[in-house]
Amino acid sequence: MKTQIIDIQNLDAEGLKRLEAPAALIRNGETVVFPTETVYGLGANALDPEAVKKIFIAKGRPGDNPLIVHVSEIEAVDALVTHIPAKAKILMAAFWPGPLTLIMEKSELIPDEVSPGLDTVAVRFPSHDIARAFIEMAGCPVAAPSANLSGRPSPTEGKHVLEDLNGRVAAIILSADGELGLESTVIDMTVDPPVVLRPGDVTLAELRSVLGEVLVSSNVTRNILPDKVRSPGMKYTHYSPKGELVVVKGKPAEICQKIKSGVDNFHENPMKIGILASDETMETYRKGIILSLGSCDNPKEMARNLFSRLRTFDELGVEKIYAEDIPLNNETLALVNRLYKAAGYTFI
Ligand code: AMP
Ligand code: MG
Repeated sequence: MKTQIIDIQNLDAEGLKRLEAPAALIRNGETVVFPTETVYGLGANALDPEAVKKIFIAKGRPGDNPLIVHVSEIEAVDALVTHIPAKAKILMAAFWPGPLTLIMEKSELIPDEVSPGLDTVAVRFPSHDIARAFIEMAGCPVAAPSANLSGRPSPTEGKHVLEDLNGRVAAIILSADGELGLESTVIDMTVDPPVVLRPGDVTLAELRSVLGEVLVSSNVTRNILPDKVRSPGMKYTHYSPKGELVVVKGKPAEICQKIKSGVDNFHENPMKIGILASDETMETYRKGIILSLGSCDNPKEMARNLFSRLRTFDELGVEKIYAEDIPLNNETLALVNRLYKAAGYTFI
């Protein structure tokens, strides 16, 4: 398939005009990659089962892994769900548009392909100006998972999308890099208290500040393989670089020591070994490909860089990656969750 590449840096008159062609492709049942404030999304008309199937084919995504439906206004949600719980309305008022996805009971408008075998649908209203204008112009809700090949790190830069999906989708809208770098927070509103199924930029503390009690799926908080699958996406390999990634735990000095001996012992060629460190620790290493996630004092910066760094190790042909563990707190929960999943919960 020949993929149309559309570059839009600003949403001025020229930028809006450039959105017309990809919006028409969505209406015609085709797939289009578009930027959002979290990661790039691979979109199709959420109400068209044949179009939705194309998303799964383009990504190589397991057919039972449900998709998030994106809207460009709160009013569009009414038709997609049986009812909007009062607490969901509170969250929409507080955090939309933004990186928060709400799970609600789905209406008959939602084809089975969007959330196969489930009575629910995930809905999000993104804040990215191009995403909003694009969905509005398309004139329909847009189902969109992250625009990566299934299992690969989510795409935070245009070049990641091109690597994975050029030739596999009808069009790709490229823009400046996403500001957040991790996928949205997913919260199940069909239960009370609501349960966070996937942490993201909207933190637990922020959710609790407006809702009171909010639970977190044990799949998120435990550093072990998920035992009970609540969010269907959780059972699949995720975010994986090509090299073998392990998370190194311990006190700071221990982490450093373990990584150094790992580098000494793993391979005769240190350039085959990657170290995912921080601005504060990277100077302590001498051998290997040493990349910083950012400053430990800036978890948002680290979150924004994670997927991009994993892909950089791939580009450099790294076979084994040691990632320093990241202390868990409200601000780092999403980052730690993605790092551990990318490592397949492998720790030393
Ligand atoms: P992605 O858009 O690729 O980040 O994936 C969307 C994720 O949202 C899935 O992997 C699920 O974990 C979650 N999700 C989407 N729809 C539902 C749903 N109806 N129930 C539970 N989780 C969902
Ligand atoms: Mg994804």
